[in-house]
Amino acid sequence: SDFLATSDPAVAELIGDELQRQRDHLELIASENFTSAAVLAAQGSVLTNKYAEGLPGKRYYGGCEYVDKIEQLAIDRVKELFGAAHANVQPHSGAQANFAVFLTLLSPGDKIMGMDLSHGGHLTHGSPVNVSGKWFEVSHYGVDQQTEQLNYDAIREQALRERPKLIICGYSAYPRIIDFEKFRSIASEVGAYLLADIAHIAGLVATGHHPNPIPYCDVVTTTTHKTLRGPRGGLIMTRDAELGKKLDKSVFPGTQGGPLEHVIAGKAVAFGEALKPEFKAYSAQVIENARAMANQLQQRGLKIVSNGTDNHLMLVDLRSVGMTGKQADQLVSTVNITANKNTVPFDPESPFVTSGLRLGSPAMTTRGMGAAEFVEIANIIADCLTNPESNSVADDCRRRVASLCARFPLYPHIQIPVPA
Ligand code: PLP
Repeated sequence: SDFLATSDPAVAELIGDELQRQRDHLELIASENFTSAAVLAAQGSVLTNKYAEGLPGKRYYGGCEYVDKIEQLAIDRVKELFGAAHANVQPHSGAQANFAVFLTLLSPGDKIMGMDLSHGGHLTHGSPVNVSGKWFEVSHYGVDQQTEQLNYDAIREQALRERPKLIICGYSAYPRIIDFEKFRSIASEVGAYLLADIAHIAGLVATGHHPNPIPYCDVVTTTTHKTLRGPRGGLIMTRDAELGKKLDKSVFPGTQGGPLEHVIAGKAVAFGEALKPEFKAYSAQVIENARAMANQLQQRGLKIVSNGTDNHLMLVDLRSVGMTGKQADQLVSTVNITANKNTVPFDPESPFVTSGLRLGSPAMTTRGMGAAEFVEIANIIADCLTNPESNSVADDCRRRVASLCARFPLYPHIQIPVPA
C-alpha cells in the first residue's frame, strides 16, 4: 500500500518484487494457492492488534466482543462446510494442529503409525527430525512398490503387528483417493485412534470431490491455505464434541498462546467462499486440470507415479527422462515455472536430490486456467526437461510461460508502488 511505501520503502519494494514474481511465474507447487482479495484484506486488518486467549465468550482479555463474533463465524462456517460437530480454528499452522492432537491423544513413548516422508507423508507424521518422531515410537507405512498406491491389506497387517495407539492417514504427495472407511476398520480392529490430516485435499473434501473423513476419523486436521484457498493456517475438527473440548485445551493453553484473529478472519472469509457454488466448480476444475496435465506429460513420455492422479497433484518420476528432481527443479525454474523436487516411492536418491518433481494445479486454476492451458503447461515442462541443453528451447518455453501469465492476470487490483 501507499502507507507502506512511504514509511518503509525497503519492505514495500520487496513485497512488490514478490507480487511481480507471483505474476510472472507458473505456480505449480501443489501446496500453494492464491487467496482472494477479500481474504488478503481481512488478514491485513486491525485484528492483528487484539489479544484473545481463550475461546469465543470465554476469553482471558477484555474487548473481545467483535473478535468473538468473527471467530464464531469461522467456526460455524467450517462446521457446515465439512459436517463436523466441533472445530477449532486457532492452530497457527498444519503442524501446530497436529501437535495439539498428539498432546491430546498420546503420551511420550506411545506408538504411532504414519506414512513415511519419502512415500508422501508429512514431517509431522513421525519423521525423526520432528517432535512426532522424537517423542513417539514410529512405525512407518508406505505405498505398494508395484501399484505405488496404498495397500490396505498390508497396512492392516502392519497395524495388527505393531498395535499403534494412533494411525495417521492423509499425505503431502499422494495423488490418489484415500479410503477413510478402510482406515477406520483397521483402526477399530487394533484399538487405535484415527487421525486424518487432509491438509492437501481439504478443498476437494469440502466440495465433495474427495470422500469426507469426518464420519470415520476421531480427529481431522488440515491447513487452510492449500486447495482450501484460505490464509496460511491450521484447523482441527471432530465429530465428537467432547473430544473437541479436549483438543481446544491442547491448542490453548497446551501448545499456543494468543490466537491470530486477523488470520482467523481470513479463514472465516475463505470458509464463506468455499460454501459458494463457485468454489465447487473451482475444485472440479482443479481435478480436471491435474488430470489433463498428467495425461499430457505421459503422452510426452514422462512417467507419472501410480500412473495418474485422482486429485490436485502428481509426481513425475524423472528417471523416465534420465534426470534427478534437483536438476529438473532447477531447469524448470529457469523458464519461470515454480515446482518442487520430491522423493518418489522407493527413491534411490537422497531427499536433497530425489528422482521426482511434484506438480499441482490449484494455484493456476485459481488464475482461471482450464484443461487446454494445463496441456500447454505440460508441453512446456516436457520440452524443457527433454531439451536440457538447448537455449532456443528455453527461450521458447519462457515466451510461452509469459504468454500464459499475461492471459490470466493475478491481483489486477493491486498496484506495485513505484519507488520514489
Ligand atoms: N500436514 C500435511 C499433510 C502437509 O502437507 C502439511 C504442509 O505441507 C502440513 C501438515 C503442515 O502444514 P504447515 O506448513 O502449515 O505447518
